[in-house]
Amino acid sequence: MASVNQKTWVEIDQAAIAHNVQQFKNIIEPEVKLLVAVKANAYGHGLVEVSKIALAAGADWLGVDSIDEALALRQAGVNDPILIVGYVLRSRLSEAVENGFRLIVYNRETIEELGKITSFDPSTRLRANSAQDRNSKGKINIHLKIETGISRQGVMPEDAPKFVKLIKKFPHLNIEGISTHFANIEDTTDYSYAQKQLKTFQEVVSSLEKEGVNIPLKHTANSAATMLFPETHFDIARVGISLYGFWPSPEAQQTVGEKKKEGGVLKDFSLQTVLTWKTIVAQVKDVKVGTAVGYGCTERVERDSRIAVLPIGYWDGYDRKLSRVGEVLIKGQRCKVLGRVFMNMTVVDVTDCEEVTVEDEVVLLGRQGSAEITADSLADRIGTINYEFVTRINPLIKRVVV
Ligand SMILES: *Cc1c(COP(=O)(O)O)cnc(C)c1O
Repeated sequence: MASVNQKTWVEIDQAAIAHNVQQFKNIIEPEVKLLVAVKANAYGHGLVEVSKIALAAGADWLGVDSIDEALALRQAGVNDPILIVGYVLRSRLSEAVENGFRLIVYNRETIEELGKITSFDPSTRLRANSAQDRNSKGKINIHLKIETGISRQGVMPEDAPKFVKLIKKFPHLNIEGISTHFANIEDTTDYSYAQKQLKTFQEVVSSLEKEGVNIPLKHTANSAATMLFPETHFDIARVGISLYGFWPSPEAQQTVGEKKKEGGVLKDFSLQTVLTWKTIVAQVKDVKVGTAVGYGCTERVERDSRIAVLPIGYWDGYDRKLSRVGEVLIKGQRCKVLGRVFMNMTVVDVTDCEEVTVEDEVVLLGRQGSAEITADSLADRIGTINYEFVTRINPLIKRVVV
């Protein structure tokens, strides 16, 4: 059964990734670059596997959170542009320089350190295989992040000219990009806050342009913005969750649905889910009515029951809050989690299934036959969002491309 020789594994549907990449390419102008957010182990889907499939399908850039993710991609032979969107320790900036990674910058300390370590011609320190990431002048490409209303990374709009001036003091730093991030574009169908952020961003860009500072790559859009508002695309669309086939939120799905009816570029837009998380049955046994299951004896079966032990638990990313409320698919049937999820095991009720035997396949997330367990439904049950559920699937679990 477990053809991959693992007791749990994640299957990645490469055709679905390619489909989703194509959907986004259909709704952005041909000159707009598509950046795929592959941070957090490609939202739990597998950093290297997803990156290679997405690039082959036509994505242009990759977005990672950390220098380690960026290095893992280079080591796997990925030489396409990589933008590190999260914080890089000053002690590790030289690794970013040597590998030609693009960096999001927003504080003086980082800029000064970058200036210091590039005070020689940095092209001499670039690794040979990162040639595509070096612009012709041998400078390091940085993207200035503007704070427009999410209050996380970013320089205040009024400080942008000051930061540009600081960066320009260093001859080997090239301001390749300027960006911001929306705070409230998927949690609502009221887009006024996002519009205000966009306006602030545009004001910063045009005031810099008035001073003769033209930054080639402007970017603001995440999945929701890319689907909903073409005016947010600028030069790069940074798409994460929806490249994995998920909607950023029910509200975004609703607004896209309304726009689809109006026709236009979204008319034929569709997403396909990419990930299926599987395990197998480790043991099956019959227990009498009233038998307690799991630590704390939090659940007693209400009838004579057949139970199955699954060899996965909260360490694998099957959240402990799914105790008593989770469901899995066995033989195309929904089976409820009994008692508490353990560290490495979970018990489910298979009384209503046809004959279940050891090493039968179990779907924790995804489709089996005509039944499906969605990330949204699991996330709902534990008070979180699809993003968190999938990113927490343990990265050590094997990702298998199908
Ligand atoms: C993660 C991330 C994105 C992608 O957001 P989604 O909502 O998953 O599409 C875009 N931009 C930045 C800066 C990010 O960190």
